[in-house]
Amino acid sequence: MDIRTASVVSPNRHSLLGITFYASRLTFSFSRWMFALILWSMSLLPFDRLPAHSPRRFVPQKIDWGDGSQIAPLFDGLETSAAQCKNAADLESWLLDWSELNAAVDEESSRRYIAMTCHTNNAEAEKAYLHFVEHIEPQLKPREFKLEQIYLGHSLRDKLPRERYEVFDRNTKVHVELYRDENVPLETEEARLSQQYQKLSGSLTVQFRGEEKTLAQMARYLEEVDRALRQEAWELVARRRLQEADSFEQMFDQLVKLREQIAKNAGCGDYREYAFRARCRFDYTPEDCLKFHEAIEREVMPALRELQAERRRQLKLDKLLPWDLAVDPLNRPPLRPFEQVDKLVSAAQEIFGQLDQDLARGFQTMNDLRLLDLANRKDKAPGGYQATLAEARLPFIFMNAVGVQRDVETILHEAGHAFHALATRDENLYPYRHAPIEFCEVASMSMELLGNQFLEAFYSPADARRARRDHLEGIVEVFPWIATVDAFQHWIYTHPGHTRAERTAAWLALMDRFGGEVDWKGWQNARANLWHRQLHIFLHPFYYVEYGIAQLGALQVWARSKENPVQALANYKRSLRLGGSRPLPELFSAAGCRFDFSAKTVKPLVALVRQELEPLN
Ligand SMILES: [Zn+2]
Repeated sequence: MDIRTASVVSPNRHSLLGITFYASRLTFSFSRWMFALILWSMSLLPFDRLPAHSPRRFVPQKIDWGDGSQIAPLFDGLETSAAQCKNAADLESWLLDWSELNAAVDEESSRRYIAMTCHTNNAEAEKAYLHFVEHIEPQLKPREFKLEQIYLGHSLRDKLPRERYEVFDRNTKVHVELYRDENVPLETEEARLSQQYQKLSGSLTVQFRGEEKTLAQMARYLEEVDRALRQEAWELVARRRLQEADSFEQMFDQLVKLREQIAKNAGCGDYREYAFRARCRFDYTPEDCLKFHEAIEREVMPALRELQAERRRQLKLDKLLPWDLAVDPLNRPPLRPFEQVDKLVSAAQEIFGQLDQDLARGFQTMNDLRLLDLANRKDKAPGGYQATLAEARLPFIFMNAVGVQRDVETILHEAGHAFHALATRDENLYPYRHAPIEFCEVASMSMELLGNQFLEAFYSPADARRARRDHLEGIVEVFPWIATVDAFQHWIYTHPGHTRAERTAAWLALMDRFGGEVDWKGWQNARANLWHRQLHIFLHPFYYVEYGIAQLGALQVWARSKENPVQALANYKRSLRLGGSRPLPELFSAAGCRFDFSAKTVKPLVALVRQELEPLN
């Protein structure tokens, strides 16, 4: 997922894992609902029928996923067949049936999500997604919980190969420990509010020079050398967002209250404790994150201040204002890597071809199957994401490309996720087909850095150097933002009952600590509400520090590739194939990096970035 804006489908999806043999009674009623469903899915999804990875052996060929009464017998069947397992092989086969069911459910949910985010103005798509989230998923959660309990208590579980199931068992145990029936409706409400946030953000437009523009489309004007034009564009967007400030605050108040209740119901001291366990963060603690923030403050902030001071000097300004941050500091016109999305696709294809033939084939397949929806248009949800169609075992990429360098970074990023999904296609245990997010983002961020060597596919040599510099500067800039967003959430969820004013004060204190040299005079309100545009805070609480942890991994992959590109890429691909089957430190080490985010790791990597920036000036 794209770090500043996007949403990823998977983190919401608490791994299901279903199972049974039950093909008999699903004679399939071709209900009106199903008919409606087929109609919308045909017209609203960018892709047509996808090739099946493997034939279904447990889930019936035809099933109406909008009708819970057709899904329930599959869970009944799994409950019954678990008791009939006679040996470890039977139990493993049972796990695969459960996997097949979960992949099918996951894919259905992704399809509805994709249709909705590609058409935020389509009432049918929204209804179909909401129906699934509000009526189907809540029915499945207690059924999943029951199966997890059955599995954990199964007498044959000890007979399974220990190393193979170690991670699965650990994750399943924590789900079972945290599961509460009474949290199901609260999570449904949380999902509904999240969808409202998406809808509101996606609907915002401004009138700019006689044309209606989405806020994403306005981003490119911040790169214009005409300072008055940048200011006009920035202020229009800031004002438009401020008009909605109260709606965003209200939504967030409700979300915080829900989350505090969810944590309390699960017997956790606060929501932070709950979130760390629910996100299966076995390999680091809240204290490690706080130390990471400190390491960023000490090691990265000097580099950020230096870059900002240099920018200010180059632009010949007394002060950097919020609209001076994206323009080229030498006042060259903005980089325009492409006008049409076709060029984005073909140039990305060329880059992957130069990196590795396997990766290039993967991307080509996605393009052939129309698994890319890249152009920005009105009524498309903001941001970018990669979603995996879990049953077809194929990735889909969603973006809002408008023709800026950031789009190039985003396609490389999301393609990294897509390569990860493709690398795990042959893993039959569904939960092992996705890695923990801390490592998923190593896959994507490494691809940004590795792909950057070949930016001449988009640019002249001089512009490619400029784009590389922009990207590396972006890495220096993003660490402080990660610390801000993460530390803010630590504050929010360890201060139950806080007021809006206290929350704003906490945010502003972090902006002081990590904001660098920007002068917000006259726009204090916009500064105080800047977090409203950070979708993760609303949709995926605590999901942000992962980007920082992963960026350190990606920088290590990149550092290795400077010494030995062939070996570094081979390690990268090998680590992707492990999916989620091993604990985080092992995934990092397979990729040739250390799982550590103390100052000891941060310091030399920041030094490397500074050193690489030097000749790109
Ligand atoms: Zn990502």
